[in-house]
Amino acid sequence: MLLDEMVGRGLPEETRMMRDVTRKFVNEHVIPFTRQNWQQEWQMAPEGRLPAKILQVADQIGIRTLGVPEEFGGTPLDPKTEVQTFAVISEEISRGDCGLSDKMVQIWKVSVLLRNVAPRHLQELWFPRLVKDPTFLLAHCLTEPRGASDRWLPYDVPEAMMHTKAVLKGDKWVINGRKQFITNGYDAKLYVVYATTKPGAGMTKGTSSFLVPRDTPGLSVARCNETLGGRFMNNGEIVFEDCAVPKDHCLVQDIAMTRAGIYFRPGKIIVAAKNLGVGMAAFERTADYVQNYVQGGRILIKHQAVALRLADMATKLAAVRALIGEAIRAIDAGAPDAEELCVMVKMFASEEIFKVCQHAVELHGGNGIMLEFGVEKLFRDASLFLHRDATVDISRFKIVKAMFKDTAGVYAGPEK
Ligand SMILES: Cc1cc2nc3c(=O)[nH]c(=O)nc-3n(C[C@H](O)[C@H](O)[C@H](O)COP(=O)(O)OP(=O)(O)OC[C@H]3O[C@@H](n4cnc5c(N)ncnc54)[C@H](O)[C@@H]3O)c2cc1C
Repeated sequence: MLLDEMVGRGLPEETRMMRDVTRKFVNEHVIPFTRQNWQQEWQMAPEGRLPAKILQVADQIGIRTLGVPEEFGGTPLDPKTEVQTFAVISEEISRGDCGLSDKMVQIWKVSVLLRNVAPRHLQELWFPRLVKDPTFLLAHCLTEPRGASDRWLPYDVPEAMMHTKAVLKGDKWVINGRKQFITNGYDAKLYVVYATTKPGAGMTKGTSSFLVPRDTPGLSVARCNETLGGRFMNNGEIVFEDCAVPKDHCLVQDIAMTRAGIYFRPGKIIVAAKNLGVGMAAFERTADYVQNYVQGGRILIKHQAVALRLADMATKLAAVRALIGEAIRAIDAGAPDAEELCVMVKMFASEEIFKVCQHAVELHGGNGIMLEFGVEKLFRDASLFLHRDATVDISRFKIVKAMFKDTAGVYAGPEK
């Protein structure tokens, strides 16, 4: 089929093999689990929602520790194709379950950040611990109760700075504040936390990032957020009360937002790829359904209205995949348009795949709405992507700001 052809086209042999291993894992462990245990995601005790066995198998096949340097036991990847491999593997996992993909991907993205900005002795301490423990998760904490959009623009004025603050007292940074909506926030063992260190300087000049182990006194996990989709990832809220970390745990002082691109550019491609995995699952389920389910004396696909929707789904998926490929090429080439392409693909994927999943639900009729049938899950999962790593509106602002640096507006400013 065209869509399957596209998945594999042009992939290096090594990436293709990793994709095949991941697909086997998803087909044998993830999809059967989510389909047979559809009530499990609604279990309100976050701890037992996803069986540990699934993370263990993911660990065994080497997809949990992508991004961790090989010298510390991570899965080696060719740097020339690393972003592409991240995209392919996250799509495959997400085809099975996007919450599981969220869990894993956060390990890869934060590991890439740490290997670039963490001091050597902290890498030597934490990477082996991460590799050794299949339940070890990482989290990246920016968002606060007052809203995240200012951070994405970024709206670089004093009043938009983070409320979480860190102050250097002797040889320790003392952090106070609150972070919300954090992927893996409920069960991570190590957090990267952003805080204001120079009040009044503007976000890009006065925000620092810190490495904060979960058992640091003063760090508490306030709650697990119950989300509409992606429910096998435990999204959490974290409070810092006089939480003191050693001075060397400051990863980037004052200009952390400008250094976070190493996390966010490939990060946006991975978000789009996870999103694509949800769309591919919706297409596969729907293609199967319309070729087998009979209404009006014919299998559904014989009805022209159904065929049109199927064509629309396939075209959207192909377009998202093509744009992901273009953004990856731009990143790998260090191209000047990499920034806007990464934002474009994240935003475009979220809107297109949401429509793909809408078609899937509609083509399944009443079955599309039933929890037991499982197609509505894909629609719920797709809805999460519309605002992750910036809302679609903020993403559009960012595209124009990246393309027209000298003339674009700031899109927020003084009230008068
Ligand atoms: C499942 C999930 C996982 C997440 N994971 C993480 C994570 O790991 N780490 C993390 O730090 N965050 C995470 N987030 C937070 C996410 O990045 C934010 O929810 C997102 O950026 C939107 O911010 P907000 O929710 O604060 O909305 P707000 O910023 O409050 O925006 C509300 C509305 O106002 C609009 N708006 C706001 N400002 C402007 C403006 N200046 N101009 C025009 N319109 C504007 C927005 O477009 C939106 O429609 C996660 C969220 C979810 C739901």
